[in-house]
Amino acid sequence: MTSNRRTFAIISHPDAGKTTLTEKLLLQGGAIHLAGEVKARGQARRARSDWMKIEQQRGISVTSSVMTFERDGVTFNLLDTPGHEDFSEDTYRTLTAVDSAIMVIDAAKGIEPQTRKLFEVCRLRSVPIITFVNKVDREGRPVFELLDEVADMLALDVSPQGYPVGMGGMFQGVLDFATGSVSRPEGPSKEFLGRRDENAELPEDLAEEIELARAGYPEFDIEAYRNGDLTPVYFGSALKNFGVSELIDAIARFAPPPRPQPSDEGPISPERDEVTGFIFKVQANMDPQHRDRIAFMRMVSGTFKRGMKLTPSGSGKPIAVHSPILFFAQDREIADTAEAGDIIGIPNHGTLRVGDTLSEKNAVRFTGLPNFAPEILRRVQLKDPTKTKQLRKALDDLSEEGVIQVFYPEFGAQWIVGVVGQLQLEVLVSRLSAEYKVEAGLEASPFATARWLKGPQAALDSFAEFNRANLARDRDGDMVFMAKSPWDVGYQQEKNPELTFSAIKER
Ligand code: GDP
Repeated sequence: MTSNRRTFAIISHPDAGKTTLTEKLLLQGGAIHLAGEVKARGQARRARSDWMKIEQQRGISVTSSVMTFERDGVTFNLLDTPGHEDFSEDTYRTLTAVDSAIMVIDAAKGIEPQTRKLFEVCRLRSVPIITFVNKVDREGRPVFELLDEVADMLALDVSPQGYPVGMGGMFQGVLDFATGSVSRPEGPSKEFLGRRDENAELPEDLAEEIELARAGYPEFDIEAYRNGDLTPVYFGSALKNFGVSELIDAIARFAPPPRPQPSDEGPISPERDEVTGFIFKVQANMDPQHRDRIAFMRMVSGTFKRGMKLTPSGSGKPIAVHSPILFFAQDREIADTAEAGDIIGIPNHGTLRVGDTLSEKNAVRFTGLPNFAPEILRRVQLKDPTKTKQLRKALDDLSEEGVIQVFYPEFGAQWIVGVVGQLQLEVLVSRLSAEYKVEAGLEASPFATARWLKGPQAALDSFAEFNRANLARDRDGDMVFMAKSPWDVGYQQEKNPELTFSAIKER
């Protein structure tokens, strides 16, 4: 049986139109329910909107969410990826939970740096990509130039599936190759309101250009697309509703159903009877009064039923999942069942962590949800020394959530936080104050990066003896070498060949 689930993300550079497109997808799907709005009560609502204020001021989205909608019997799970480049680790993890992605490009700008970065992450995991060239209602770059840029910069075959009939002031709609019809702008806002001309007459030079495009680029090939070697390209305008319906159809028809996921036993098929899944995100303090958190689990196999007992690989202690959240139609907040490809939100008090596998039998472990060595390390300075305990709790919490990594040095009392991007530091300070009532500052640390240490116990012990000042433990108690420079890492690696200095940690 093939699944009717399509679990995907949108990747783009800020301002390309991801938010606008998301809204239009949800509207067409007749949805919906935003995960960020789950269980917003009194105080929680206020705290959340404060938090959103930070997001708005910065013009970025810090929290990511899940949106589910349905059309023609297909269930779409759209995972929102934080758009800012500082959040690469968080974004990376979200992309481990999808089966395909939509790449949104601004027709006037083409491939931008963040698009490219996110694309590379998708390529690492062979996540298939559908391209949506947005804003064709405005003046954009020539279509051939855009197609060639995608092909050349991303080393990907491109297969146009439609064509804009003019752009900017000359914009007269979008031709869909599959039906041969042109969707037309209407009314004062020049939106697409449903009018499609079959067999529309096109200006001769444009007709020729389109002939060339159809002959000059590869035909769509679903195998090549699903292998991540070819991207079908759609043109449209999220703002004016062009191409959105075609895009949803493309996801329904071409995007892969839930794919097997890598584990220590090899790939786990969605057909497996046992319920399995992994936590790719934890969102804390949606309600600061209750310190509740929602862990987001991607279902890999089985049929989840409410109240089921699942065992997290982290604690090894089974938990009964009584009030899971499915991010679905307004009237169905609480999930009764969920299947492979679905995301469920599991409220918990810190027992579930990013990277945990959840399963009925507690045997399999999903792989590929790593922590990356931080590139920015700071000492945390507490303004009120009596708050040490609160600080430790907060740092532990936030590192579980994946916001920061924390390192407790073997020597010295000052704890060190590590992040991949600068913005996370600001988020850290503001959350410490708002949620934990801990005022803290961050100061320079002598370290430039960190490496997880592995090797025979004797070698570890003797290394520790000579390098105590450069050793720390992470949240799990694992030993970490704090390096003053990348050169330092190379030097120590050479001197200690029986140890590995790893820039990636998989739990
Ligand atoms: P995001 O940063 O990728 O989420 O981009 P937004 O969806 O917030 O869009 C950025 C800006 O581009 C906003 O001012 C949108 O109104 C505008 N925009 C988005 N899509 C279109 C489009 O198709 N045509 C035009 N003209 N503007 C658009």
